This record gives sequence, structure tokens and C-alpha cells, in this order.
Amino acid sequence: MAVACPECDNPLTIDADEVEEGETMQCDECGADLEIVSIDPIEIAVVDEAGYDDEDAAHHDDEEDE
Ligand SMILES: [Zn+2]
Repeated sequence: MAVACPECDNPLTIDADEVEEGETMQCDECGADLEIVSIDPIEIAVVDEAGYDDEDAAHHDDEEDE
């Protein structure tokens, strides 16, 4: 199955039988680090090198995790 790279729209051929959810790969075209976030259907997302902490910082609510 071909999935477009979210960075450069390069079609990436991914065989669902050969990859696992959470696995990371690299785009041949732009070199972006991509994580396979879903297998069925296949969905990929760019791995943010800065980490995911930035998103938490955007929250202003005083929510507790409880
Ligand atoms: Zn790419």
C-alpha cells in the first residue's frame, strides 16, 4: 500500500505485513522520520524531534490527571 509522506507527499510503499504500529521509518525523498501510527488503515506521522512536551505546554487549564 502506498501512503503519501506527510512532509513531501512522496508516495511510500508500506507493506502492512512487514511493519508494526509504533515503528519508525525514514522517507527516502525528504529524510523525515516517520512513525507508523496505525496499520489498518496505514497512517503515518512525522516524528517531532522536539518531542511531544510542547503540546502540553500549550494547555492553560489546571487539569489534574486524576
Ligand atoms: Zn518525505
